[in-house]
Amino acid sequence: MMRWPNSTGRWRSSRGCRATCAVSCSPGFPRDSARRRPPSRISPGCSTARTDSPSVYGAVPTTGWPKRTRPSVAKRKPATRSRGQGRRGWIPLSPCSSPTSRSRRATGSDSDEGIVAIDAGTTEETARAALQALRRVTSRPITHIILTHAHWDHIGGLGALLESNPRVIAQAAFGEELRVVNGTRVPFKYFFGATGSRRRYDVRPDHLVRQPETLTVGGTRFVLYPARGGETADALLIHVPDRDVLFVGDAFMPYLGAPFVAEGSAEGLFETISLIRSLQPRILVHGHPPLTDIYTAGAMPAIEAALQELYGRVRTAVGEGRTLAAILRDNILPASLREHPAAVTPYLVMRDNFVKRVYHQSTGYWKPDGEGMEVLAPEEWAAALDLLGGHREDAFVRTVRGLAERGDDALALKLADLALVRYPSSEALTTLRRRALDSMRLRHQQMSPFKFIIYSEWAGAELSPVE
Ligand SMILES: [Zn+2]
Repeated sequence: MMRWPNSTGRWRSSRGCRATCAVSCSPGFPRDSARRRPPSRISPGCSTARTDSPSVYGAVPTTGWPKRTRPSVAKRKPATRSRGQGRRGWIPLSPCSSPTSRSRRATGSDSDEGIVAIDAGTTEETARAALQALRRVTSRPITHIILTHAHWDHIGGLGALLESNPRVIAQAAFGEELRVVNGTRVPFKYFFGATGSRRRYDVRPDHLVRQPETLTVGGTRFVLYPARGGETADALLIHVPDRDVLFVGDAFMPYLGAPFVAEGSAEGLFETISLIRSLQPRILVHGHPPLTDIYTAGAMPAIEAALQELYGRVRTAVGEGRTLAAILRDNILPASLREHPAAVTPYLVMRDNFVKRVYHQSTGYWKPDGEGMEVLAPEEWAAALDLLGGHREDAFVRTVRGLAERGDDALALKLADLALVRYPSSEALTTLRRRALDSMRLRHQQMSPFKFIIYSEWAGAELSPVE
């Protein structure tokens, strides 16, 4: 199971939306515990969308993949009206919500059309919890599940949401992306739980979207746009024009494609931004709530301008044979951002990973500085450094400590890792390594959630506030 912090579900009712829309959430980002959470362990679960939108959206969490075979559309029973129906609005599908007065505000006029869910979360366990929360406000069946893309944290809970035989809809390239997901082994347990990424997903949508099409449920139009998003090529954007809302899934992330997967493209990202420009929605709802806060419709033109400049400069640098390290050290900050402070954070959150993806997609496996020509194992590096240090453990200890004291945490971590290859039982090196990892967790907890998660796992730490 992925471990992500919860955030409090906040939402409010909408007017005039006759279908109920529940947005399944994907994980939020690790929070800066010092500011946002009491000093307790970060728990798995879901997070929810923000409130300052005209509608309510909720979130669902996640789980293991259903063994059952997807029922065919023809076999499905028609939705029946039952207790709880007759409400309208966006219902939060989130275990983070409770049946408080807040949730009771999500009421409205009649609809017997049921619920449209967007994504299914990471695990069945959390999807079930979300469903229970949903059932406190409505008993209407889920009639449609729209998958924004084939990532594990958006499809893993699907099995828990199939009871009412909903129609599962995805983009035409969904199967191709699912093959990439199933074919990539990612060792980080903090993303995937004890099974790591060994879980294989068998999702067969009932309907694939190849070109824009409209789904109308309870009088509410959901216009589905296939897109080559920034993260995956199977992005499906859902526009609710009557509410001025566009659900963009993970088209925007602090990465250009998951960093450990061969996917993502700047070109796809720009195409998606162009689509957003043509639709002019007032609200963008992202698959990860913190992104809804920063990648806003209002900031999008300035984000696009800054990223276009970054893209151009990286491509130029590649053409000049410059190295990745040199490009990253340029700290490219387009002057256009001065006039658009709202675009600075979204730009910076994405920048370095954007540079890395574009650089790797634009170069061969032998880099201009020779990287990749000779691939040396950690044992070889460790042996060479040990020779340099006179075969003395204290030489490593002194150097790692010195690097840490001057703030070179990444270097301190690298050297500690190599030193432990030679001196695996060294308590001093183990302690220094842990300190370096904690410094890296602290350094990246705000802007690079995946780094924060991986350094936490390497430290053997709970995903709790940095100690
Ligand atoms: Zn994703």
